[in-house]
Amino acid sequence: MRSTPIYEVHAVKYAHLPRKAWEVQITPDPHDADFPMDYFVWVAIPLDEAGNRAIGGKPIVIDTGFNAQVGKKRGREVKRNPADLLGDLGIDPSEVEDVVITHLHYDHVGNWDKFPKARFHLQDKEMQFATGRHMCQDPFRHAFEVDDIVGMVRAVYGKRVVFHDGDEEIQPGLSVHLIGGHTMGIQSVRVMTRNGWMVLASDASH
Ligand SMILES: [Zn+2]
Repeated sequence: MRSTPIYEVHAVKYAHLPRKAWEVQITPDPHDADFPMDYFVWVAIPLDEAGNRAIGGKPIVIDTGFNAQVGKKRGREVKRNPADLLGDLGIDPSEVEDVVITHLHYDHVGNWDKFPKARFHLQDKEMQFATGRHMCQDPFRHAFEVDDIVGMVRAVYGKRVVFHDGDEEIQPGLSVHLIGGHTMGIQSVRVMTRNGWMVLASDASH
């Protein structure tokens, strides 16, 4: 018998952006090359001992992507809304109970409103960053959407945000880990799978 529950993890691609390296990197590259970007959300689905989806097992969604309206404003095409794509995996967004928000950039928290029952797992430092003095600076602020941040603040007042301070287990086999760097409070997720532990690094790594 396994001591740690296992999960099946899906990377769900919902948008793509053709780009050049100079558009992405802080220091322009003189040998400019294509640097296309794919946009993902992830979901961890609990499995039973036999490796099938556990009956009554509750999927944990990791990040919620951005919607078509924000994509258009920022010149990115959303192929399909991430919440609809989760439906293709048999997951009803309106019934999801736990969503990990790795960080509050627009492409990670944009469809929070499609998860009306969810608790949002967020690092203390990320909320501090997104609502504090650094947002007075253009380079820090440009990747945040104020409506998303206001939505998360409303979720706090609705008792729907679970704050984490560092490394914490959300449930057996799935934990969050404060990384920092890309944003003050970016967190990665560690999940036990059939093949052992895997880390969903989000923007903590390319
Ligand atoms: Zn980011």
